[in-house]
Amino acid sequence: MAYFDNNATNRPCEVALAAHSEALSEDWRNPSAPSSFAARVRVKLALAREKLAACLGVSPDTVSFTSGATESNNAIFSHISRASSRQARVLLSPVEHPSVRESANRYFSGRVDELPADGSGIVEPSTLAPILDASEVALVSVMAANNETGVIQPWEKIAGMCRAHGVPFHSDATQWVGKLPSGQWDVCDYLSASAHKFGGLKGVGILKSPAEFSFIVGGEQEGGSRAGTENFPGVAAMLAALEESESFVGSPILEEARNAFEESLRASIPGIEVLGENVSRLWNVSALLMPRFDNLRWVGKLEKIGHEVSTGSACATGKDGPSHVSAAMGLSPEQARRVVRVSGSRETTPAEWSGLADAFRLAYAELRADSSSSEVVSI
Ligand code: PMP
Repeated sequence: MAYFDNNATNRPCEVALAAHSEALSEDWRNPSAPSSFAARVRVKLALAREKLAACLGVSPDTVSFTSGATESNNAIFSHISRASSRQARVLLSPVEHPSVRESANRYFSGRVDELPADGSGIVEPSTLAPILDASEVALVSVMAANNETGVIQPWEKIAGMCRAHGVPFHSDATQWVGKLPSGQWDVCDYLSASAHKFGGLKGVGILKSPAEFSFIVGGEQEGGSRAGTENFPGVAAMLAALEESESFVGSPILEEARNAFEESLRASIPGIEVLGENVSRLWNVSALLMPRFDNLRWVGKLEKIGHEVSTGSACATGKDGPSHVSAAMGLSPEQARRVVRVSGSRETTPAEWSGLADAFRLAYAELRADSSSSEVVSI
């Protein structure tokens, strides 16, 4: 099975599995225990935090390890709601992940505003200044790269504007970290990322926050910010995966293979569109608006011929209603149901991308044949 659903999750990479297995067999003790063996794990955990912080360009005392980006996002809104006034509002891009949207709505019910965005879902930074001047804002949250389309937001610019206005800024960088250079996150007050999106394991994530942040109580772990025995093996695997990804980020070969795939589809499937094709996008994603057939039919047909793709956000699969990302990009509900997302990883080869283009052509021919035979039956 050729795997093209890496924005949902990656297959754990070899170096992550090796680091995990070594930590499980050698460094399994509780880092808070008093023995010298436990102290060794404590030291390794501190070192891993320093190295991860260095990869992200932030201070180690601002990095907490969490169970993933969903937890990081929830923790941020819960903390900000406790620390801000009852009038303060939060501002989000219209294309945030549900773990940002729903956390914002839970903790700031009736006080969540969507920032104006263009037809690619990109927030225009110049629209922000008047809003920051006019209202009391507890947090601005704009993701780095979108999970459904790969479209990149001008998060660095927005972070700078928020800082100039003294307003905290959060970026959900779950789809960016491990795919694009990651050394510049200090401009964000809050940041979330997740190991399983870049070759690490599920259940391990990163939260960057001010050092005095506390969200799970009952122990002094994570500098007091998140109580609970630390998952050192998961952290070791995450570090190994992130370090490995650093040698791939920015490699033009990865993007060229994805672009060749899109070109090949445009030439052979008339009417196909690529969402966000004219703006900066992640190199690994194509969100394809197919000319015909619901996306679940495409997913099923492609799977039968050996290719695993997705309808958009894995978190939204099976839910009623079109994706809010497609809606923000101006797609009708009927169009949104025709969006197929393919997402490769740093391990995806040009031959696999080209095989995927062939699979789409075959799937299209079979879907048309299926529908013309069913039309005959219905007559
Ligand atoms: N934010 C974004 C942009 C994501 O793509 C995802 C994963 N779909 C999450 C948050 C949630 O990540 P996790 O699985 O680590 O909770």
